[in-house]
Amino acid sequence: MPFSEGLVEAVIYITGRVQGVGFRPFIYRKAVKFGLRGYVINLGDAGVEVVVEGAKTAIEAFLHEVKRDSPEVSEIRGVTASYRPYQGRFKEFKIERSREVGGRLSGIFPPDIGICRECIKDIENPESRWYNYPFTACAWCGPRFTAIKALPYDRERTHMADFPMCELCKRDYHDPMNRRFDAQGITCPNCGPKMTLYDADGNPLEVEDVFKTASELLLNGYIVAVKGIGGVHLAALATDDEVVMELRRRKNRPYQPFSLMSPNIEAVRRFAVITPEEEAILKSWRKPIVLLRKRGGVISELVAPGLSHVGVMLPYTGIHLMLFKHLPEPALIMTSGNRSGLPMCVTNKAALEELQGIADYFLLHNREIINRCDDSVLKIIRGKTVFLRRSRGYVPDPIKVPFKRGVAIALGAELRNVAAITIEGRCFPTQYLGDMTNLEVLDFEREAIRRFLKLLKVTCDMDVIGCDLHPTYLTSQLAEEMSRDFNTQIVRSQHHHAHVTSAAAENGLAPDELFIGIALDGVGYGLDGAIWGGEVLLADYSTFERKGHLEYLPMPGGDLCTLYPLRMLIAALSKVVSEDEIRDITANHISRGLPHGEMELQIILKTSRSRDVIVTSSSGRFLDSIAALCGLCYRRTYEGEPAMRLEAAAMKGDPYRIGIPIELSEDKGVYILKTSNILLELSERLKEFSLFDVAAFGQRYLAEGIAEMASRVAEDEGVRKVALSGGVFANGFITEYILDYLSQRNLEVLRHGLVPPGDGGIALGQSVISLANVM
Ligand SMILES: [Zn+2]
Ligand SMILES: [Zn+2]
Ligand SMILES: [Zn+2]
Repeated sequence: MPFSEGLVEAVIYITGRVQGVGFRPFIYRKAVKFGLRGYVINLGDAGVEVVVEGAKTAIEAFLHEVKRDSPEVSEIRGVTASYRPYQGRFKEFKIERSREVGGRLSGIFPPDIGICRECIKDIENPESRWYNYPFTACAWCGPRFTAIKALPYDRERTHMADFPMCELCKRDYHDPMNRRFDAQGITCPNCGPKMTLYDADGNPLEVEDVFKTASELLLNGYIVAVKGIGGVHLAALATDDEVVMELRRRKNRPYQPFSLMSPNIEAVRRFAVITPEEEAILKSWRKPIVLLRKRGGVISELVAPGLSHVGVMLPYTGIHLMLFKHLPEPALIMTSGNRSGLPMCVTNKAALEELQGIADYFLLHNREIINRCDDSVLKIIRGKTVFLRRSRGYVPDPIKVPFKRGVAIALGAELRNVAAITIEGRCFPTQYLGDMTNLEVLDFEREAIRRFLKLLKVTCDMDVIGCDLHPTYLTSQLAEEMSRDFNTQIVRSQHHHAHVTSAAAENGLAPDELFIGIALDGVGYGLDGAIWGGEVLLADYSTFERKGHLEYLPMPGGDLCTLYPLRMLIAALSKVVSEDEIRDITANHISRGLPHGEMELQIILKTSRSRDVIVTSSSGRFLDSIAALCGLCYRRTYEGEPAMRLEAAAMKGDPYRIGIPIELSEDKGVYILKTSNILLELSERLKEFSLFDVAAFGQRYLAEGIAEMASRVAEDEGVRKVALSGGVFANGFITEYILDYLSQRNLEVLRHGLVPPGDGGIALGQSVISLANVM
């Protein structure tokens, strides 16, 4: 750059996700392009600092391109530039070593990044060193969270430790002009991991191209276990009923929906409806499973039987790209490779042992998976991301919480669990852990927390451990254990208080502000010993008052009512009609809905009227009863099945054809939404209207009934903000009815968008409640 008029020095700060994503080399290449001299340095948590000198017009052009071309994953949040007089103090542009600033959070690392466009080009280019190479990655893409043992993020502490770089890779690694500069995960066929295809007995097969052979096997209807970056999937044809049935039989999953992977968005369009929002998130670097409206045809109906949506993702590593290379299919089933109830397999040994009898062949590699991480699953409802599972591609991104101080571990609830570590105003939810109903999942939780504490460099004292109020949950026992280990106190949160607090906190509600919470879910332990699940709370972060709930219905046989929805319907009706009438109403259902028929009916009726019966205000159980009434589900084979089938049926109905007014009562200042009478009414309407209309109205009744209670409480208390949480908010109809009802009454709604509304979001709420109570 010749000396001329207009030379200046600029100091630039860039904040956002600029660590571990090849951002500094990107800045380097741009600076060199515009002939600028100076340096770029990592400021850890505070972003990067760039100091450049050169012509002001060149610096401006540089800044323009930095913003325009930055790697997608970098997510620039702020750029500030200040100019000062030119001093001529630099000879070249340099990448400086990182300065340790901002304490223990300085080394935050990104989630796993789906393979980038440039790496895909390398895999497809016969001239390239990475042609057909499944582990192709660069500074902009590849495994991160699943690859790392400890910080700093250097190759020795990742899953690449066993694969020293060859000379060619070293050259790329040290060349700042190269896309692979400083990329810890780079590798090539000379020096990197390899795939091997095994038969069912674990014998390696001698074949020329493992992907070609695996594709042929899949096309012939075999089930192939495929090791990826966060765990092992079971892959199978999605277009063949027999194959899908066989996979269901082997996995012992008669109806649970399977997720799909499609080679590209055009293939997805053949069997699902995609909105532009959904398309953008499917293609994003996070590569989650997105639930899309089914179009019918092409894909076997048995993939997601009786449901309106199907979960689809796009390939996110070279392994998947190579799998589709020889496979002319619109989609493959890609479901988690695990034995029922156990975490997904991550080692070759576990895959070969645990998937014995499920997979016919195993396509595995010799690279370790450090942190197990299931695929994330989400849905878009009214413009917002609704997570059903937040894991790969999102973890370990933190969520800001309104407490600057304090360190907390929260252990979550029971089903679909996630734990969380909160430190210095930020909550780090762990990856998806699973159902805490067996000890393997509990061990996984213990291990995941230990890893997070290490990665976050938490060495100070723990202020509090948060867990659920339920006395016998495994997570409550783990809380006891950890409270002894860390010598710290436990705060036990009521399940629904944790739900609504989670929604309020991720929306940045202030610690002293009162809000109304609507919690709709299947089950949570209530303060009175009953099972809660359709609640209106007046809350702040430290405590709450119950201001409204669904009518208590008996649950004869407890959990049996969850398994057999017809029990719930009979129990509810027992509150309002005689035994003979119940027999009339349920006559067509008994043989299918109760395994022991008439005898069972007798017991249910007797128990329902007993004084000792467990009662519930669960909205999940109310929806289940309607599903049973409509004949949509008699035996639940996976969590949420009856309600999901109801949602699919409601899509074909008209929610306004039936009109039954909302029935509220009040008891000592607490509103109660009647449900038993409505079930009776609906049984009458079934004679006149289609089951689809009944399904649609049932959902609307629940939504508007609960919203009406919340509106009244808001009015009574002079509170304007309403937080929505609980697993039922994965239901698009119910969410939309509630949103409309509340907005018509000028109430401000706080919805989830960062953590799941279901129990995977509980740990965030527990963290906030715990800190509010001890700090
Ligand atoms: Zn790449
Ligand atoms: Zn190499
Ligand atoms: Zn819940």
